[in-house]
Amino acid sequence: MATTLATPERPLRVAIVGAGPSGFYAAAALLKEEGYKVTVDMYDRLVAPHGLVRYGVAPDHQNIKAVAKTYDRTAADPGFRYFGNVEFGKQITHEDLHRHYDAIFYATGAQSDRRLGVPGEDLPNSLSATEFVAWYNGHPDFRDLNPDLSCEAAIVVGVGNVAMDVARILAKSVDELKATDITDYALEALAKSSIKDIYIVARRGPAQVKFTNAEVREFGHLALADPIVLDSELRLDRASSASIEGDTSMQKNLDYLRAYVEIGNTGKPRRVHFRFLLSPVEIIGEDGKIVAVKMERNQLRAVAGGDIIAGGTGQYETIPAGMILRSVGYKGSPLPGVPYDTRKGTIPNELGRVIDPASDKTVRGEYVVGWAKRGPTGVIGTNKPDSIESVNSMFEDLQKGKLHGCEDPNPDAAVALLQERGVRYVTADEWRKIDAYEVNSGKPQGRPRIKLVKADEMLDVLK
Ligand code: NAP
Repeated sequence: MATTLATPERPLRVAIVGAGPSGFYAAAALLKEEGYKVTVDMYDRLVAPHGLVRYGVAPDHQNIKAVAKTYDRTAADPGFRYFGNVEFGKQITHEDLHRHYDAIFYATGAQSDRRLGVPGEDLPNSLSATEFVAWYNGHPDFRDLNPDLSCEAAIVVGVGNVAMDVARILAKSVDELKATDITDYALEALAKSSIKDIYIVARRGPAQVKFTNAEVREFGHLALADPIVLDSELRLDRASSASIEGDTSMQKNLDYLRAYVEIGNTGKPRRVHFRFLLSPVEIIGEDGKIVAVKMERNQLRAVAGGDIIAGGTGQYETIPAGMILRSVGYKGSPLPGVPYDTRKGTIPNELGRVIDPASDKTVRGEYVVGWAKRGPTGVIGTNKPDSIESVNSMFEDLQKGKLHGCEDPNPDAAVALLQERGVRYVTADEWRKIDAYEVNSGKPQGRPRIKLVKADEMLDVLK
């Protein structure tokens, strides 16, 4: 090793910005690397850690949320410290981190969403699925979203797993949701919902869906809702058929959709319609309220490179609806002082090493993991190998002497800085108290937890 960094006398000091899955997988890999002494300080702008596991994963998918236990084990490592309620760029800056840490990992995910770019998109109740998910999951920024569920039909645009999540939550009964950690205010609003028809709308065909088998299967088992699929929309063109040959997962998706055609409408009070080859072209409002969405029918075309794309036919269909949720992908947001690729919505990088696009050179001591690195793809577990790749890049740089010791590595100095600035940061121990409070509050109702939403409510628990 060409440096004295990462020794018991001078541990390597790493800051991780973002306490979601990719941040925790990076922390775990950093802390357990043999032969190196590393300490990790993790910052998050929210009080609660776990990012998408807490605020993205659907409340009725508790088995996926159980992964948080692994993150708790990492947080219990003596080399790990948590600083929740600290926003990068505001309470702690890029310069601060460079002064007090030898390496920085950005694990900030993809927090914003993509837009459709059609007239009427800014009408009230035209929302992104990202916002709707964050609302029912108790993300403090979206507590007051107040989606209007008094309409009879809602349209979900896109056929990824997020679309499936929001459609399922709209379709489920209160009984199906009440044993989850969905927020009380969302459960109350959903209990009063008048929505009976939910349209999941794909711009391409059934051979191009992005959802996975388990997600489509769930629609066959809902208490209050029938999945409705039109036989005519399941017919595949030649290119689509060829594209999914040997793809068992896609074949299985089609099997479920075909089974839903067979079962048809059994008379349940709600219906989830899977519609294909339609693109919204206008969200129609009357007196400031959405009343319908005009769709253009598409046809598919195979293009060079093997892609199958959708193009409009000039034929239109209007679906009456009072709500539209665009679920067409997440997008990153730039961080102050950190390179950003506006087109991809990611931090430019090579195997996790941040690249400065101006010089095309790596930025010393800066790394990126997760959705901020590769874009919004993959499931929670995908982040583990992705984070390990970036951590390996960092250890390689360390071995080659490319990491320089920071100016002030005293672990107390970073804490003193926050204290001087009057920042009410939340430690790992304090989070454990909030966590225990939430879990205990849920017990009498047989729920995994009752979430506290606003930072103040969480800080009150610590008083
Ligand atoms: P996604 O899987 O990329 O799906 C995005 C959908 O939006 C696609 O159907 C896409 O269609 C469509 N779309 C994009 N632009 C469009 C436009 N302009 N008009 C109409 N449709 C458009 O994204 P996601 O659903 O946000 O999920 C993000 C990631 O999280 C995925 O990897 C997903 O699997 C994962 N996730 C997993 C779970 C789970 O494991 N249960 C739950 C939630 C999310 P095209 O294919 O035609 O582009």
